[in-house]
Amino acid sequence: MKDSLARLTAARQQLLRQIPDPSTVLPGSLLSRMGRCNKPGCRFCEKGQGKGHGPIWILSVSLGSRQVRQVPIPRELKKEVEESLRAFARMRKLLKQIAQVNLELLKERKRRS
Ligand SMILES: [Zn+2]
Repeated sequence: MKDSLARLTAARQQLLRQIPDPSTVLPGSLLSRMGRCNKPGCRFCEKGQGKGHGPIWILSVSLGSRQVRQVPIPRELKKEVEESLRAFARMRKLLKQIAQVNLELLKERKRRS
């Protein structure tokens, strides 16, 4: 039977290798909405017709205590922002898993002391 400390340490190494580059991460979520220009006669914005311009992409970031910051994202940055959001989500998930492994390691070390 493989040593459980070694097994857990190896599992942790495996998780550590999957952590994305922290310099890229962004918080929040990306929303889209249609915009209105309010120019008279615009066929995209006329009342009852058209859906407006867009979509416009908005990065919505919760600042806590019900405050939300909304950052408009230019089309050319959308892909990069999406990747950064995914990197953050992946990193958070991996950190939780690593913390869980560390908890198991702690129990195992206590058992042996
Ligand atoms: Zn318009």
